Amino acid sequence: MKLRCLGSGSSGNCYILETTTEALIIEAGVRFKDVKIALDFDVGKVVGVLVSHIHKDHSASAGDFEKIGIPVFKPYESDMERQVRRYGNFVVKSFPLVHDVPCFGFLVVHPEMGRLLYASDTEYIRYKFRGLNHIFVESNHDKNMLDESKPQYFHQITGHMEISTALDFLNANKSVELRNVILLHLSQEYSSESVFLKEASKVTGVNCFIANKGLEVVLNKAPF
Ligand SMILES: [Zn+2]
Repeated sequence: MKLRCLGSGSSGNCYILETTTEALIIEAGVRFKDVKIALDFDVGKVVGVLVSHIHKDHSASAGDFEKIGIPVFKPYESDMERQVRRYGNFVVKSFPLVHDVPCFGFLVVHPEMGRLLYASDTEYIRYKFRGLNHIFVESNHDKNMLDESKPQYFHQITGHMEISTALDFLNANKSVELRNVILLHLSQEYSSESVFLKEASKVTGVNCFIANKGLEVVLNKAPF
């Protein structure tokens, strides 16, 4: 299983989980054209698209997938807190997050990669998960880097996860099965990639990455 990041942050979010035969898209916040190019125009292998919430940087191209008959999971359109879906060999469970609009995280299970947790655009995560192999978690800002003289700063961080909250989550959810940690949706002004990576590695002891555009990571259950 290969992960590719086409964007992470307020300018557009999109992650592709891809095997040789199928692909699952997490977030439709970049141009549809960019997804097609990334898939070498093999859009037929996309078994489903997961969208966490209505904000455009996550949902902008959802309609383009629907137009060509690809199922798009938008749990925020339902009253149900938790739902389960199957797309090809991927099983997806949604759970509610804490943002300024209804927003959902996803537990994604696939025989090749095991259990992956995805949570972005949330102040914190209420739940604990067992046996995760891969954790994708928002690490938006560092409270020590905030510049309170800027009028927009509070608006920018509201509903987004602070690094110490993300580290607490990693600490509470790590296990011997954990293989990879991907830090998502870093604020341009109030984060430090090198510090965040160092701290996440220290807490988990596994491979840690920042979800920059162009990132590719092999996600397998086995530790090699
Ligand atoms: Zn949002």
